[in-house]
Amino acid sequence: MPTDEQHGAPAPARCDLAIVGGGIVGLAVARELTRRWPRASVCVLERETQLGMHQTSHNSGVIHAGVYYAPGSLKARLCVEGASELYEYCEARGIAHERCGKLIVATDASELERLEELERRAQANGVRGVRRLDADGIREVEPHARGVAALHSPNTGIVDFPAVARAYAQDAREAGASIVTGCGVRAVSVSGRRLRVAHAQGATEASHAVFCAGGWSDRLAVLAGAQPDPRIVPFRGAYLRLSGARRNLVRALIYPVPDPSLPFLGVHLTKHIDGEVLIGPTALMAGARDAYRLARVRGEDVRDTLAWPGTWRMLARWWRTGVVELRHAAWRRAFVRAAARYVPELRPQDVRPAFAGVRAQALARDGRLVDDFVFSHTERALHVRNAPSPAATSSLAIGRHVADEAERAFDLRAA
Ligand SMILES: Cc1cc2nc3c(=O)[nH]c(=O)nc-3n(C[C@H](O)[C@H](O)[C@H](O)COP(=O)(O)OP(=O)(O)OC[C@H]3O[C@@H](n4cnc5c(N)ncnc54)[C@H](O)[C@@H]3O)c2cc1C
Repeated sequence: MPTDEQHGAPAPARCDLAIVGGGIVGLAVARELTRRWPRASVCVLERETQLGMHQTSHNSGVIHAGVYYAPGSLKARLCVEGASELYEYCEARGIAHERCGKLIVATDASELERLEELERRAQANGVRGVRRLDADGIREVEPHARGVAALHSPNTGIVDFPAVARAYAQDAREAGASIVTGCGVRAVSVSGRRLRVAHAQGATEASHAVFCAGGWSDRLAVLAGAQPDPRIVPFRGAYLRLSGARRNLVRALIYPVPDPSLPFLGVHLTKHIDGEVLIGPTALMAGARDAYRLARVRGEDVRDTLAWPGTWRMLARWWRTGVVELRHAAWRRAFVRAAARYVPELRPQDVRPAFAGVRAQALARDGRLVDDFVFSHTERALHVRNAPSPAATSSLAIGRHVADEAERAFDLRAA
């Protein structure tokens, strides 16, 4: 799944703009900066040997339409704009995608009020085409799904996000950016009018930098002089897949009505662009920021999570939800049962294990799971500090937002 990266460009000693992190957000930022400042020298510094190896290639692959997000939030605006730009981009670049539509299903009357709130949000956010369905309407769209009511969002879709990231990298490279892999950034310091970024290949002196490090964004921000709040706490999201013959249980995308006080959307059934049907993801606090295997534990990551006051405040509030997630992670039957609320024919023997992703979720000192995208500044640098779902959908719009910020914060007249 990772994005292929054949070009082992060496890290430059100097550049105008350095972007740290070669996931879909960093690459979208690089693409936008090279378009806006074609004379600026831009480099992307990525720690792994390939681009897009973390969240970019371990997610549900859904182009969200913008239904869920609080009106007026950055997520609401950047998702709606980003989804529409992403469809156009994929058309233009021949990237695999499908506007397959999605159902958000209420399984009993207790969920109807929240479904209405989602309908209001969709309208307020300018999401087009969303309509309310009754039980018969649900069956027309998804013959195997059951519920008392649903919202249908025809403009939600699926896409190959690693291919999107590859295309952004190609655009940036063609516009003159150097994209350097195997180049983990270890230290950041300001020296006069430049930022010294020390990394695995030595150091790069940049006029300015943008940090887009996903699950490690808090560490890089702190290295550059920012406050530690919010901290990234990794949440592992494991998926199951339907075995071949049972894929016909799901035509497109079936989602629950989410708990509005949590930033996760709940276990959903999603057709993937490669034809698989996935069930998931779970949301379990993980022992490493790259816990693709459940057993992976890294001392530094565990220490960072446990030493953060927000972790204990969050656990005090959400431990019951945590126990449910633990059951889903440990016991496949419970996981399948959660999905069978929406597709009752689903049986444990219909599923196989699939992959897992790790969400980079920002957690505030007061225990709040930070819902919205968060961007911040340090001297000569911008930081993308919280870019959870739907940041892949919103990537082109995030690229523009960051470039607007850069225009205000950086002195790029000479570039
Ligand atoms: C389970 C799951 C399901 C999701 N489903 C969806 C979905 O359906 N639709 C959607 O829109 N979004 C979804 N998302 C969210 C989406 O995947 C992310 O918001 C998006 O990929 C974030 O991109 P990114 O570039 O910020 O992070 P990443 O892709 O994680 O990239 C960060 C990069 O920074 C690099 N890096 C870190 N530290 C350093 C360092 N010191 N030096 C150099 N490089 C460094 C990393 O190696 C990595 O390549 C999902 C996420 C998860 C985990």
